[in-house]
Amino acid sequence: MIYEVVIGVEVHAQLRTKSKLFCGCGTTFGLSANSQTCPVCLGLPGTLPVINQAAIEMAVRAGLALNCTIATNNVFARKNYFYPDLPKGYQISQYESPICEYGWIEIATNEGTKRVRIRRAHLEEDAGKSVHVTGTNGSRVDLNRAGTPLLEIVTEPDLRSADEVLAYLKGLRDVLISQDVCDGDMEKGNFRCEPNLSLRPLGQKEFGTKVELKNINSFKFVKDAIEYEIKRHTKVLSEGGKIQQETRLWNFDRGETAVMRSKEEAHDYRYFPDPDLVPLQISKELIDQVRSSLGESPVARKNRLEQEFGFSEYSIGVITSRKDIFEYFEKCVIEAEKIGFEKLGFSKMEVGKELANCITIDFRGLTRHGVTVTPPNPLLFDVNPYSEGIVALTIIPAKNLLELVVMKMKGEISGPIYKSVLEKMVNTRKPATEIIEAEGLKQVTDEGAIEKIIDDVLAKNPAQVAQFKEGKQQVLGFLVGQVMKASGGKASPGKVNELLKRKLQ
Ligand SMILES: [Zn+2]
Repeated sequence: MIYEVVIGVEVHAQLRTKSKLFCGCGTTFGLSANSQTCPVCLGLPGTLPVINQAAIEMAVRAGLALNCTIATNNVFARKNYFYPDLPKGYQISQYESPICEYGWIEIATNEGTKRVRIRRAHLEEDAGKSVHVTGTNGSRVDLNRAGTPLLEIVTEPDLRSADEVLAYLKGLRDVLISQDVCDGDMEKGNFRCEPNLSLRPLGQKEFGTKVELKNINSFKFVKDAIEYEIKRHTKVLSEGGKIQQETRLWNFDRGETAVMRSKEEAHDYRYFPDPDLVPLQISKELIDQVRSSLGESPVARKNRLEQEFGFSEYSIGVITSRKDIFEYFEKCVIEAEKIGFEKLGFSKMEVGKELANCITIDFRGLTRHGVTVTPPNPLLFDVNPYSEGIVALTIIPAKNLLELVVMKMKGEISGPIYKSVLEKMVNTRKPATEIIEAEGLKQVTDEGAIEKIIDDVLAKNPAQVAQFKEGKQQVLGFLVGQVMKASGGKASPGKVNELLKRKLQ
């Protein structure tokens, strides 16, 4: 028997608002427990929720970017259940009338482009977090996260493999990041995904019994968990067994799923409209205004970057991984356009590539006020490659970064000096020319001065000179290195090469 895999996905995306969904508490990740709480998000009696306008706008923005219809009349509902990290005993969510419906997103598959339908996306508040302290008997509750705004995005069961699920998740995350409504960081839990999966005999219309998967916090685990479940279902079904409808947890240590709760234990949430919140009307003006500012889609952007700069898919992934980083790159390119590529002496593609290298690689390991700037991590595609450290990058005015990069391209400064000037720019905010001037780092291009150093180095290394004359070409590199070192890295490498070769003839 050949089986067809049917998968749908729920994603909880945390919206990037400064404050929570129904109170003014902050949403910063990683602060000390319960430091971002107030009577409203603690669920104290007598408090009333007030909806956050920014969250509404972000939900509308995400919905429109995902080709959804936006509901102008919104009702919030109470989803009732008991859990220690849910102070009110219910979660405010949307039930019958989600803010976004009937959208879609296109993904690339082996068989070409495929449209994945989005059934709905609704706004809800997050719960807090239970912290189980090892070495003690107790558990603690941290309510910093209670009340942060989530957009729950639910697909139709349109996906047919783990790879399609990954393509969907990456595509969805790209859209949310490009619209600046979500950080998309799975490890920090602000982009959580729960696939549901069933198998049916190929050609059968009716769906099989499905299981839901939880506790997955990286793209790799999504793939592993789905592939594990496909194997498990296939085995059970082909042996004539029955799949139980249940929720399963992914245990990444053991590489397998385990039952979390069965259908019998499933909650009855007793949804009803929240009497504390009047129906929320979203004006057509707001929808139109957001629609007109959606800008370029991630797919169109990817195509443009490939065409204009010849970037690889990997480079595009890094440079567009955060909206502020991408905008910074574009600002630098605009500065180059203002000067003109002809005047700079390089093509747009050449300048763009150097800028991208600088932004995505050269910031690696720099320190700002003694703290190492967190570098992008190219190997972990599922981890947001930038953290707070990247702020260091964006404090350099685009014009100044371009100036430095072009100096390096022209060979006016050597590699090591380029890197140290970059670090000084991060720390002092001064332009490169000023730093180079003040510290006497200007490249030595004066032939007489370089020749003097070369003569010195040749006199000190007669053995290497003899080897070179015997035909050992690779000794040249050593000699260039010695000259560069003797000049304090200031000699122009091009000039050194040229003069050395001339002298050794
Ligand atoms: Zn609060």
